Amino acid sequence: MTGFNILIIEDEAKIARFVQLELEHEGYAVHVEHDGREGLEEAISGTYDLVILDVMLPSLNGMEVLRRLRKVSEVPVIMLTAKGDVMDRVMGLDSGADDYIVKPFAIEELLARIRRALKRKQPSLEKKGVLKAGELTLDPARHIVTHGDEEIELTRTEFDLLHYLMLNKGIVLTRETILDNVWGYEHTGDTNVVDVYIRYLRSKVDEKYNKKFIFTVRGVGYQLRDDE
Ligand code: CA
Repeated sequence: MTGFNILIIEDEAKIARFVQLELEHEGYAVHVEHDGREGLEEAISGTYDLVILDVMLPSLNGMEVLRRLRKVSEVPVIMLTAKGDVMDRVMGLDSGADDYIVKPFAIEELLARIRRALKRKQPSLEKKGVLKAGELTLDPARHIVTHGDEEIELTRTEFDLLHYLMLNKGIVLTRETILDNVWGYEHTGDTNVVDVYIRYLRSKVDEKYNKKFIFTVRGVGYQLRDDE
């Protein structure tokens, strides 16, 4: 096993099955979805290291799946496009695809692109080092948050919440996503706790320094930005 989980979203059963078997043979753990909407739900779950995404899909096309996925996730995505579909290719890369491959493709070509995309993914793990947003700095290793030179005292949960928001700087996060990632799956249902802790964080991080980092996105959730 390579330890990598790959999601294939492809409605053509023959292609999906073929790619799945080849990837499993290479040691990847593979899950297949045949429908755009269900594929998106699965992709958002955060358990995958890479997504292979077809463009023409039932219920939600691949471009729309990618657009929605990119609001909450930076998981590498390789698009499968029909031959000569130039617009789709350009749109795919513009909208946050990491790579694309044109059907029909040689499996070796796909495997090479998967390896490349997974390798590129590594530096983002290093980003888990010191995070910055304007004057705000968070150092996970030393468990320290500073604003300029001044240290901000946070509780464990406040720290974890701020860490998650900063890791996803600029991305709008739903309360459910925040709850799952900061509090874990065992803490189900009540998202009020997220609002409560956002309020604590704001009083310590935003209001004290008169600089807004944590924004409410009406009807969706929260976003950390460092607007100048
Ligand atoms: Ca298709």
